Amino acid sequence: MIIQHCNLCGHLTEQMIPEGDDKPRDVCTHCGHIQYQNPKIVNACIVEHEGKILLGKRTIEPRSGCWNVPAGFMENGESTRNGAIREVKEEVLADLKNVTLFGVYNIIQRNQVHVYFRGELAHPHFGAGAETSDAKLFAPEDIPWDELAFPVGITALKRYIQEMKTGNFTVQEEDIVIDYEQLKKMNLV
Ligand SMILES: [Zn+2]
Repeated sequence: MIIQHCNLCGHLTEQMIPEGDDKPRDVCTHCGHIQYQNPKIVNACIVEHEGKILLGKRTIEPRSGCWNVPAGFMENGESTRNGAIREVKEEVLADLKNVTLFGVYNIIQRNQVHVYFRGELAHPHFGAGAETSDAKLFAPEDIPWDELAFPVGITALKRYIQEMKTGNFTVQEEDIVIDYEQLKKMNLV
């Protein structure tokens, strides 16, 4: 992505390697401000209640109509944990307890880091919230894998369900490698 205007003064930027740096950056041609571009953080939470997993059905693109683990971009001024708790509250109207880190997933091709937590419903109340048309608890064997929105959610959920069997949950860091042919089939590119 090429940024054309400076965030500070509005003048055009151009790509150059600043002195002392080794990567091309967008540098303002007027005030010299360097506009660094860094990965975005997505927070998510796998929510369990009595052996079932709470998923929300998306109403926005990409992947509108597909089920997803509650997730969304981190806001300024919040922690990763509170971001995940907020997304659960917004999308599936649920309150959580026992929220614990579950996994960190790097999507290098998209410049994103997805931080997954796991948690339990604090009380058995939930529903369809923002950008969501339905919220439902799925037994592991009933999870609609073909209707899940994103590869990262599928990767995290598969490990979660595996680890549910023993109750020995781990924290893992993984790289999600995007298969663009697969994404084309999913209308994600
Ligand atoms: Zn400028």
